[in-house]
Amino acid sequence: MATGFKHGKLPVRYLGVPLVTRKLSLRDCQPLVDRIQEKIQQWSLLNLSFAGRFELIRSTLYGIQNSWCRQFCLPKGVLKRINQLCMVSLIRSLLARHGFLWVAWADAYVLRGATFWQLQAKPSFGWIWKRLLKIRDMLPAQVLQDGVSELVARIWLQIMVGKERVVWHRLVWFSLHIPRHSMLTWMALLELLPTRDRLIAWGMALDASCVMCGDVIETCKHLFFECAGTRIIWKEVLSLCDISREVLSWNQELSWAVRFMKGKSLLALLLRLAWNAYFYFVWKEINCRIFQSVSRDLSSIVLDIKGVVQLRLQGRFVKFRMDSINFLLCYRWGIHV
Ligand SMILES: [Zn+2]
Repeated sequence: MATGFKHGKLPVRYLGVPLVTRKLSLRDCQPLVDRIQEKIQQWSLLNLSFAGRFELIRSTLYGIQNSWCRQFCLPKGVLKRINQLCMVSLIRSLLARHGFLWVAWADAYVLRGATFWQLQAKPSFGWIWKRLLKIRDMLPAQVLQDGVSELVARIWLQIMVGKERVVWHRLVWFSLHIPRHSMLTWMALLELLPTRDRLIAWGMALDASCVMCGDVIETCKHLFFECAGTRIIWKEVLSLCDISREVLSWNQELSWAVRFMKGKSLLALLLRLAWNAYFYFVWKEINCRIFQSVSRDLSSIVLDIKGVVQLRLQGRFVKFRMDSINFLLCYRWGIHV
């Protein structure tokens, strides 16, 4: 053009953000969120310590954010999303056991033998731990999109390669599933949990007997449905669903579950949640007995299963018709109607 000016397009952008006369929307700020997400993904390829990652977040990411804040009044939702991205990045380094000094400190004084997933919030926790735990509860959706996917992807590839599709996948993965329960159950059903028979086969010198009953060699099949120490728990869970029968063998229980836990009824949903919680809490109990020398009575484990199912379904009963069967189920499980 004669004047040397070029044709532009409205709206004019500054630092990637459109200059508009109204308040900025979440969509307007997407370039900022994308830029921060891109940085975090680049750093995920680096073997950074927790301290290094924290410093990068503090200096670079908050630097970018502050530079934007000086120019614009950012929506609250954008700031929240940026904080989430930064916290997820910190959690990744914690799970990946990067950052030896900080992780060692966290293991000794905060986790105290528990995993990050099992950690319960305490009033004495500082701001950062409270935020980490809050973000943890939002992680399942993030996990698949963001960093922890490396770990999940490794497990996924290991259990998927060369395997046929299983008939029981809907027992484990369904709309209200609890991710940590489902992952554990998935591994148990594929007999991939590090039970004593497998550890011995890998060359470890161990006592092979079951930690729950002490009678038989500890295998996955034995632990969950053939052990006198755990069958009682499953029987109690079944009776909460108004099912009165003896506990069957591993294969029979699995066939029964495939037949009876399908569909959209409240009973099917309750059973699926309880099934996954059962695997999770039994495995947790075994680990507590081995690593912490702490044994709980079996009724406490039933209460844990009941509590977690209750919490998951509380307020969702409206989707179900409140007939006498569903009413009884809600009553037995303590779900308030
Ligand atoms: Zn046993």
